[in-house]
Amino acid sequence: MAAIDVIGLTAERAAALLRAGECSSEELAGAYLERIEAFDPALHGYLHVDPEHTLAAARAQDQSGNVGLAGVPIAYKDLLSTKGVPTTAGSKILEGFIPLEDADVVARGNAAGLVSLGKTNLDEFAMGSSTEHSAYGPTRNPWDQTRVPGGSSGGSAAVVAAGLAPWSLGTDTGGSIRQPAAFCGLVGLMPTYGTVSRFGVVAFACSLEQVGPMTLTVRDCALLQQVIAGGSERDATCVGLREPIVLPEPGRLDGVRFGVPWAELEDGVDPGIRERFDASLKLATELGAELVDVELPYARHGLAAYYVIAPAEASANLSRFDGVRYGLRVDGPDLRSMYEATRSAGFGPEVKRRIMIGTYALSAGYHDAYYVQAQRVRTLIRRDFDAAFLGVDAILLPTAPTTAFPMGARMDDPLAMYANDIFTLPVNLAGIPALSIPNGLVEGLPSGLQIIGAAHTENTLLRFGAAFEQAIGFDPVPPALRGGAA
Ligand code: GLN
Repeated sequence: MAAIDVIGLTAERAAALLRAGECSSEELAGAYLERIEAFDPALHGYLHVDPEHTLAAARAQDQSGNVGLAGVPIAYKDLLSTKGVPTTAGSKILEGFIPLEDADVVARGNAAGLVSLGKTNLDEFAMGSSTEHSAYGPTRNPWDQTRVPGGSSGGSAAVVAAGLAPWSLGTDTGGSIRQPAAFCGLVGLMPTYGTVSRFGVVAFACSLEQVGPMTLTVRDCALLQQVIAGGSERDATCVGLREPIVLPEPGRLDGVRFGVPWAELEDGVDPGIRERFDASLKLATELGAELVDVELPYARHGLAAYYVIAPAEASANLSRFDGVRYGLRVDGPDLRSMYEATRSAGFGPEVKRRIMIGTYALSAGYHDAYYVQAQRVRTLIRRDFDAAFLGVDAILLPTAPTTAFPMGARMDDPLAMYANDIFTLPVNLAGIPALSIPNGLVEGLPSGLQIIGAAHTENTLLRFGAAFEQAIGFDPVPPALRGGAA
């Protein structure tokens, strides 16, 4: 049988091939593993691949008969616990840590018959926007290997864009699914807070983060969301879905009202991004939608509020890495020096920066001035969105103000790195869903269109996304991989 061409292969199509008996899950996994071996050394999208393990899981699916999505491969961000499989969170402090249990989302993937190809690279503890903060070295963008893939789920984005997995899971605390999806020409969904279990996800900022799909198409995104979303007794904040996720069909947008927060677009947006955004607004009206001016006056304070709240939660969450319970230990003459030596050696500079900011913001003298104040701003941002959604079905914004930046460009300037999340993190502060879809190229690099909705409107976002996807007509395969022979 001819080798399977997996470049540009959607998960939906892979499932159809398996069900029709046109290939086995073992052959499919084998085709991805071959590509991983050939191309991942340059890209470094994966932190852990175990071909024997993957092929055995694929054979088990073949033997049980491939139904639904059974036998389709997937890649998991290395922030998700995987039973018996190393889980590092991109940090030295978790080197050698092997979880005893699967994260709920991984367990749901297993129950659907998905076959893990491996664990993907990320910024340490998901803190970053470029994957350069991984303790294991950066990932490169398959569209241009001199550039970052975005972050923190940069590995999950790069492997899908390069045809080293049909789809993947990422996590999003302030943009970490949507921004790398935009930088790598993919679809990414930040689900409504509380619809996907966080059990077994290495915690960064619990009140902000959710796991979500990173895929080649909007339909794949819906399919993967069907797998991972749902209530869990192991995550008290997880209420599950209000209605089942529906597979979207592209169509017109007659009668749809899209809010555009013009004031947010005035500064700091690259002209090429703005051009692509305006072109998609025009497409929306051609499809029958109406554009409505909306105001989100507090959204611009999202960046400041996020960089108090997220580090505050991180400083508490990361206190568990003490050299006793997980991974790395650096011995010292007494307990306190062991803690210090372990944490000094185990955490990278960005993580230390966040722990210091968070500890400071929560300290007795500054708690009200910083943490409480940031929570107040968070409430105001949520109210801005609530007010806007009284008059519109969804809000449109670019996903990020730039395309993928050159590697190293922002490493010495944390504020410039943080600023890349300006359009994504208000969504996390409000706990609402947003879908990023490819919005065409700017000087050869992908850009993203972000569609933001009220809580529990995933089906609406996916339907709008499918309409834009068809109208925009983006090819998610990077030019160097086209023609099959890369
Ligand atoms: N870039 C943001 C940060 O560094 C968001 C990260 C994320 O979503 N995990 O906090």
